[in-house]
Amino acid sequence: MSDRDLPALWTHEPHEHLAFRPGDEVGRIETNSTPGFRGSKSDAPTLQTERNMRLASLQEMLYARCKSGDDNRSVLLILQGMDTAGKGGIVKHVVGAANPQGVRYTSFGKPTEEERAHHYLWRIRNALPPAGHIGVFDRSHYEDVLIVRVHNLVPPDVWGARYDEINAFERELVDAGTTLVKVAMFVSLAEQKERLAERLERPDKYWKYNPADVDERLLWPKYQEAYQAMLEKTSTDYAPWHIVPCDKKWYSRLAVTELLIEALKGLNMSWPPPDFDVEAEKKRLAEA
Ligand code: AMP
Ligand code: MG
Repeated sequence: MSDRDLPALWTHEPHEHLAFRPGDEVGRIETNSTPGFRGSKSDAPTLQTERNMRLASLQEMLYARCKSGDDNRSVLLILQGMDTAGKGGIVKHVVGAANPQGVRYTSFGKPTEEERAHHYLWRIRNALPPAGHIGVFDRSHYEDVLIVRVHNLVPPDVWGARYDEINAFERELVDAGTTLVKVAMFVSLAEQKERLAERLERPDKYWKYNPADVDERLLWPKYQEAYQAMLEKTSTDYAPWHIVPCDKKWYSRLAVTELLIEALKGLNMSWPPPDFDVEAEKKRLAEA
């Protein structure tokens, strides 16, 4: 797809490089790479600022259209990745550019007692973006086939049945007008170690450190298997996964920004028409 709007620093629409394809292997992801981007780190700040403005404007259009009753669609960004992959940075530096009025952010941690009493999709359904909003899931229902699978928090036949169930659930969302942008974020084990170490060096980062992160890190081979199965079983034509290399934070942020812009542009929107007579209103206002 050619796109006049795409910055020249990208060789292709990022999704063309980042979409998961059958045969892609989690173990072979080059987490340090910058697929499709021909610029360098020094180009990133200016480009990020520019593209954040584009994203914010598209988001405002979607919000305006829903407010005026011309639309009822939404976009849902699903962020999955191990600790330190940079999910929080995407929320802060990419989604943070949009008007909070039109954003619905939810992070999913270990289920509370109340959540555990319900089906695992209950808390997910409760957090879906209303019409006109960008929903952001910082972790998601995929935890129920990732950490849950790795630790066998439920028996294999139970988590095993969830892939089909998740596909059916997402089909339902898409049919109801939600565009899903699913992003699997990958850092190398070495980069993760550095990022965790930094959290231990800086008092302003202690809050992000959790001793349990080290235990999960030791289970990386089992997580790789779980991520592989997730990608293979739940990347569908209506809700495909994207694999984003995250050793370079500036790249992952630019890439996710473009994925969101693409999703919003795919809605083919225009500003809602006035439901009043513009000329008559100008006249009235001049005389008021
Ligand atoms: P964080 O994102 O760093 O705040 O950590 C949240 C933790 O909650 C991660 O270790 C997740 O794997 C865990 N978590 C999220 N969803 C679930 C779930 N459905 N069952 C068990 N643990 C979960
Ligand atoms: Mg954490």
